[in-house]
Amino acid sequence: MRKIKIYDTTLRDGEQSPGVVFRQEQKILIAKSLEKMGVDIIEAGFPATSHEDFLSVKKVASVIKDCQVSAFARMIEKDVDIATTAIQPADDRGRLHMFIAVSPIHMKYKLNKTPSEVLEAIEYFVKKSRNLCPDIQWCGEDASRADPDFLVECINVAIKNGAKTIMLPDTVGYSTPTLYGDLFSFINDRVDAVASGDVILSAHAHNDLGLATANSLSAISNGAKQVECTINGLGERAGNGALEEIIMALTLHKESYQISHNVNTKDITSISNLVSTLSGMVVQKNKAIVGANAFSHESGIHQDGILKHRETYEIIKPEDIGLNKTHFTLGKHSGRSALKERVAEYNLSLNDEQINNILIEFKQLADSKLEVHDIDLLTLITKELNEKDHTQYKNYIKVRSYNLVQNKTADGHNQFNMELLITLDGKDTSVHATGETSMRAIVNALSDLLPHKQTMERFEVSSISTNKDAQTQAIFTLHIEGLPATVTTQGIHIDTLMSTAIAYSNALNIARININTFKNLNTNNSN
Ligand code: MN
Repeated sequence: MRKIKIYDTTLRDGEQSPGVVFRQEQKILIAKSLEKMGVDIIEAGFPATSHEDFLSVKKVASVIKDCQVSAFARMIEKDVDIATTAIQPADDRGRLHMFIAVSPIHMKYKLNKTPSEVLEAIEYFVKKSRNLCPDIQWCGEDASRADPDFLVECINVAIKNGAKTIMLPDTVGYSTPTLYGDLFSFINDRVDAVASGDVILSAHAHNDLGLATANSLSAISNGAKQVECTINGLGERAGNGALEEIIMALTLHKESYQISHNVNTKDITSISNLVSTLSGMVVQKNKAIVGANAFSHESGIHQDGILKHRETYEIIKPEDIGLNKTHFTLGKHSGRSALKERVAEYNLSLNDEQINNILIEFKQLADSKLEVHDIDLLTLITKELNEKDHTQYKNYIKVRSYNLVQNKTADGHNQFNMELLITLDGKDTSVHATGETSMRAIVNALSDLLPHKQTMERFEVSSISTNKDAQTQAIFTLHIEGLPATVTTQGIHIDTLMSTAIAYSNALNIARININTFKNLNTNNSN
């Protein structure tokens, strides 16, 4: 039995999902949950992409103690300097993950470098950074489409200059289990330091063909000693290899793979809920392992079989992925200690003030809902952290409630008059707007609060659980004039119009914070 290192990249490749941005507090919550779950390495971010991400990686590097913390960087001076600074608080547990494209198509069209220039860059940057960071991981981007002999040359240069882990990603999700497995056994045969075990190979698969998990498992069978994955398969385009799928396949077929790992599978469901809630990326219902339907049996024949003998139709026990735990509920008579206990199960360290604020919201929610589920609790925690984020800034919009009146226009169309009661910059006030639907009226009322043009790219409303008193979640992706990227935010409330209003106001709050930041940056370059 040999051990596989689990390298989680939810906070880096996962964050590269369109529309997903993790704020610093959210990254810390996810990192702590990954640490508790037992992953070996957490890739905390790509610090050169923004100052906020630099600060987040630095903070994760300082709070995580039981696993390595890695930062992602291109092979350019600025990235390497920023990434190595960001992971300094992790001391000897810090890892620098540097990448450069190695396939002909990427070198020619994206990088505009010749193969020999790529080899020079590998030599220069690996040599430079081994003095700046204790552990170097080198990645040949688009390795699955590289010329195998050139790839061997690159790997040898990286190893000679100090790389301890060689990452061979299927960057564009092009490979198949046979091809990807062959790549790993080829490198294993051709590179002595890999064959001897001094340097390890890492797999990183993408799901463009729906093969990410299969490709990851094939790489492991063919010599990969590290596998990179994300919770819920979050990631660029169709996503990355899903941690929960790879782990459960290795666990269920331990005898066949002869591979061990340190992950506590009972944490899978709670961390899946956490990532889904914080990212706003709802897990598809028929998703393997963590989808809402993964353990539901609809057909009568299946139900009959399950009742007679569970293993007839179930290959995994729900409790093995911690599914039973999330069915525990808290009612309105549950007190502070019950709440604290649930928070502790997520390994979240919240201060007394935060717990008190959550308890107040929790009681209100329990008054209007029979039971408060784990997912409800997570949303309250997210809300508390988001509000803490925003209250640091004066330009803060908080939606309190609304009054809605439906009228008919002279030509018989519906018209909704919305009075939205808000707290703006610390003062209670109200804003008014009309719209042909209640949603339009509420969005119109809010959008006027920011003079910058707002374009909606995505609007979703869904219920968080299935009973009639379920909370609803609204998600907006907005393009806001003055910001370099779109903003995705969510709002959660038992009333759908309120969740819509909260999600929209959260986007405006983020825009206000960041537009000010950009203004400050433009006038003050000392940052
Ligand atoms: Mn990737």
